[in-house]
Parts: sequence; structure tokens; C-alpha cells
Amino acid sequence: MTTLRTVTVLGSTGSIGDSTLDVLAQHPQRFAVYALTARTSVQKLFDQCQRFQPRFAVMACERSATELDTRLRAVDSETRVLAGDKGLCEVAAAAEVDVVMAAIVGAAGLESTLAAVAASKTVLLANKESLVMAGALFMDAVAASEAILLPIDSEHNAIFQCLPSDTRAVPQKPGVSKILLTASGGPFRLWSVEQMAQATPEQACAHPNWSMGRKISVDSATLMNKGLELIEACWLFDLQADEIEVVVHPQSIVHSMVQYIDGSVLAQLGNPDMRTPIAYGLAWPQRISSGVAELDIVATSRLDFEAPDEQRFPCLRLAREAVGQGGTAMAALNAANEVAVEAFLAGKLGFAEISQIIEPVLAAADLAEPTSLDVVKQADSLARQQAQANIDSR
Ligand code: NAD
Ligand code: MG
Repeated sequence: MTTLRTVTVLGSTGSIGDSTLDVLAQHPQRFAVYALTARTSVQKLFDQCQRFQPRFAVMACERSATELDTRLRAVDSETRVLAGDKGLCEVAAAAEVDVVMAAIVGAAGLESTLAAVAASKTVLLANKESLVMAGALFMDAVAASEAILLPIDSEHNAIFQCLPSDTRAVPQKPGVSKILLTASGGPFRLWSVEQMAQATPEQACAHPNWSMGRKISVDSATLMNKGLELIEACWLFDLQADEIEVVVHPQSIVHSMVQYIDGSVLAQLGNPDMRTPIAYGLAWPQRISSGVAELDIVATSRLDFEAPDEQRFPCLRLAREAVGQGGTAMAALNAANEVAVEAFLAGKLGFAEISQIIEPVLAAADLAEPTSLDVVKQADSLARQQAQANIDSR
């Protein structure tokens, strides 16, 4: 007999949200949906409420919340609607909830993810930006609570699976010599600097292997995603940046590897489909089916690996520099990147200019230790202003 686990999905209308609901729907005897959340996608959240009948639906945008409430009342739904950050934190921390999928995109996910951690939930972390911006505080909060933090980012999930045991139980990671963090290289892996300067948002969002939200798709094209993941891995697994080697692997079949001192390399392989790490996180330490097709290793046939080119993809270098700088540099990097990516997606900035907007913000970052969430939020807000000013002055 398995006990029914109650799940809140933060960011249920996104790409990770969709994949999570797909896995949950395959296991109704194991999971019950407690709350679903979105920012402004009223129609999509309405449809999800009709299908999963959660106790709560939360819309970050107040106006959207009113609209959703009206529509759900009209169909006599029993789902109650909450609004804003307060509502998000409430459904992340509610006593009835066992598992929280943190799948809001960007810094907007920080507070609700931390609320889930503080309430000692099993937290499935897709929202890497929250760990990047507030790493030390975030990991302190995990240590101070009974929370179980499970990485959903495919690479970190792979590393988690290949490490000797779970990350909390093995602080010294005995026998591990380094981590090989794989990157697909994104849609512009073979493009010249001149070609990339002309890249459109549509081209940047057309990822060769993964179907994802627009922000992370652009991050994958600039390789900032791999930079953010490098930082994410440092915090999750208590590593130094030089213990992590980024390896470009265009097929996205090997999701990352752990190198051991005896020469062994353990890798986790699978088809590129986020339902695998999501199912792993939902059922951990057991395994459940995910709906992902078995890997046909013979048909796959080739697995290529190459070093990343930090000249053409300066965002990866910037992320390494931010780790070296410490303090609030990582929060500044993340914030400046969010502003630059949004401007690029809005057609207000060229693709190659994204790193040029971030670099001076990072150089000016305050290196004071982020001792409180307020310090992190101030650094985030200052970096956003500086990045916006850089964009406006172009
Ligand atoms: P997405 O853009 O598809 O979805 C984002 C979700 O967050 C939506 O439900 C949206 O309504 C909600 N949201 C957006 N802004 C919000 C705000 N201000 N307040 C509250 N909610 C808000 O993004 P995604 O691709 O699903 O990615 C989600 C997170 O998972 C990101 O942090 C991303 O880096 C990470 N991730 C995604 C993938 C992937 O395959 N998509 C893989 C690894 C990690
Ligand atoms: Mg990833």
C-alpha cells in the first residue's frame, strides 16, 4: 500500500508544470493535487482546475485571480482562489501539503520556494534562479528545517542519482573527484558571433532537444543556463566551481556525470524529457513510471562531447566570475540576466548584447555577504535598475 501524497505545483501552467501534471495524472492512487498556481494564464489554470480539482488555485496577478474566481464559481467548482505572493506562500507551506514542485520561472519563485523549505516540505526544485540568487540563505534554510530538497533540473537530478548517496547524508562525497555538467550547446552551438548578433527570439527559443519556457530557452542559447546551473550545482552539492567541468554534449542523452578517484565515471542517461527527473523527484526514494519512452541506445548510436567555447558564449564565463566574486554577485548576475533576456524577447535588445548588459552590472556588484533576504532583494533590485539603465542608454 502506498500512502497518498499531497502536492502543490507552483507554476503549474508552465512547461515544467505541464510535465508535472502529466506524471501526477498517471498516478492518481499515489498523488492528490492540493494547489495549482500561475501568474496570468486564467484560461489554462481554469482548465487545470477542472481536470485536477485542487483545493486551491493561486494567481500571482490580482486581476487574473478575480477573473478565475468568477469563472470557477460559475461552474460550481469547489476550488478556492487566492492571489499574490501571499497566496503562493500559503499553498507552499500549508500543513496538508507533503510535496511542493517549485516551477515558477525566475526570481519571482524565491519566496514561495523558501516558504516550502521553511515548512519542511519535500521541495522539488526546478526554479534554479532562487538558489542562484540566495544560495547560502537557501541552503541554510534547508539545513535548519526538515525539508528534503530534490533537484529537478535534469543535470542536477542526474548528478544526484550518480552521487554515492543522497546529498544530505554525504557531506564529504567520498571518492568523488569532479562533476561533468553536460550542456546541449543550444540552438546556436555552431553559429558564428556575426550570425548570433542577428538571432531572433524565435530562433533562440527553438531548442534542438528540449521544449521549455521562453526564458530558459534563451538562457540555453546564450549558455547562461549552464552558468546558472554551475552555480546551482555548487550550492546543491557543496562544490567549488573548479570541481565542475562543463561539457557540451549535443544529443542531450547523458544528463551529467560524476567522476570518481578510481577512474570510474557514473552517468545518468535517458531521452531528453523532463518527466523523468520529475517522476524521480515525486517518488524518491522509489521509482515510478513517467510516460517517457525507453532509451533506444542502438538507435542513439552516437554520443559526442566537446569543450564549451567561452569566447562565443561569454555568459558561461560571467557565471564563473560571479561565483569567484561571491557575496551578492550571483544575485546581481541573475537579475541582470532576467532583465536582458526580457528585453531580448521583447525585441528591444540584440542577442549578442545580452552578455554586454550583464557584464558591467556584475563588475559593479556589491561583494558584501548576503546576510538576509532583504540584502539579496536589494542586490536584485539594484542590478535590475542598472541593467535597465544600460539597455535604455543604447
Ligand atoms: P515557463 O515560462 O514555461 O512557466 C513558468 C511558470 O511560472 C508559469 O506557470 C507562470 O504562470 C509562472 N510565473 C511566471 N512569472 C510568475 C510570477 N511573477 N509570479 C508567479 N508565477 C509566475 O517556465 P518553465 O520552462 O516551466 O521553467 C520553470 C522553471 O524551471 C525555471 O526556473 C526554469 O529554469 C526551470 N527549468 C525548466 C526546465 C524546462 O524544461 N522547462 C528544465 C529545467 C529547469
Ligand atoms: Mg538543466
